[in-house]
Amino acid sequence: MKLNITCIPGDGIGPEIITEAKKVLNKTAAVYGHEITYKDILMGGASIDVHGVPLTDEAIADAKAADAVLMGSIGGNTTTSPWYQLPPEKRPEAGLLKIRKELNLFANLRPAVLYSELADACPLKKEISDQGFDMLIMRELTGGLYFGDRYTREENGVRKAVDTLTYDENEIRRIAIKGFDIAMKRRKKVTSVDKANVLDSSRLWRKVVEEVAQDYPEVTLEHMLVDNCAMQLVKDPAQFDVILTENMFGDILSDEASMVTGSIGMLASASLNDTKFGLYEPSHGSAPDIAGQDIANPIATVLSAAMMLRYSFDLDKEADAIENAVKNILSKGYRTADIISDGCTRVGCREMGDLLADEIK
Ligand code: NAD
Repeated sequence: MKLNITCIPGDGIGPEIITEAKKVLNKTAAVYGHEITYKDILMGGASIDVHGVPLTDEAIADAKAADAVLMGSIGGNTTTSPWYQLPPEKRPEAGLLKIRKELNLFANLRPAVLYSELADACPLKKEISDQGFDMLIMRELTGGLYFGDRYTREENGVRKAVDTLTYDENEIRRIAIKGFDIAMKRRKKVTSVDKANVLDSSRLWRKVVEEVAQDYPEVTLEHMLVDNCAMQLVKDPAQFDVILTENMFGDILSDEASMVTGSIGMLASASLNDTKFGLYEPSHGSAPDIAGQDIANPIATVLSAAMMLRYSFDLDKEADAIENAVKNILSKGYRTADIISDGCTRVGCREMGDLLADEIK
């Protein structure tokens, strides 16, 4: 297969972790007989330095022309970097918002996996972490409270602020279809999270999700109220496969799920549109405090590349190979500085990339 990938190395540790992800992708392509073409584009601070804006129209066109986009991370030290003296629309993060909008990325996927080798990093009780967990939070990204009409005004001498939460059935249907499609590639369970005991938008959410579920008889659907879900994530995370939810609930629950894994350098993510196209990136930021020192953990980016193979190219075997390489290297005791523990071998970013690539045979 020919894979046409646009890469955004970005800022901070971004270029280092993208180099290692490409190394692992190239080895996978060589082993499985695929041909990858990369085109690198500038975004964030790197683009500001060259073009004066965080994302050019040419860069957007290159991203749109690709089958998928693989990103490192963008942004600098928000206190000391001159990028943050610029007006908000010229700062690094404006590039990210713009590309998400231009590419119509409405579905955000964040897996939260507890590797048994890293169980010590999990802040939950040992009897819970011993069971491990492997879930994926599917969050609606372009609707709901963050995009509704809002205002603040004074009425009769009292300050009042209003935000509105709106979803139409089409917005709910398209994210639900993504959630069920992805559950079909996993353990075939969807937990749809809402607040249907209070919110009209949640009641419509629940109805439309049930309609979509009719087309997926193999998938088990359950509904859960968001407050209960927040509790269950720390009480019994092993029960979850795909959590499907709206924008604000997903924002909060995906951070909670990430934190219970305990290791930020391991967390992949993807944002998808209604075709096979997606933007894949680690959940962490550009870590300017450790940039250029060859100590960053590239695994989140490598796992994002595996998600890209799985969801944009349907290359499940190849994605499995990368995910297994991560598990094998962890069980052989290799660790970057952020996940090091007693008795393990400390390696740098480059060496971790080499080890992972060598593991794909
Ligand atoms: P961060 O995630 O970059 O770093 C938080 C801490 O985790 C730091 O101590 C860092 O060294 C460590 N860390 C992060 N990734 C790591 C890795 N792969 N290996 C080892 N250690 C790692 O968050 P921050 O410091 O709040 O933000 C730094 C910059 O990143 C800011 O400009 C922020 O806006 C940006 N950011 C970008 C994205 C994105 O591009 N999607 C996301 C979040 C933050």
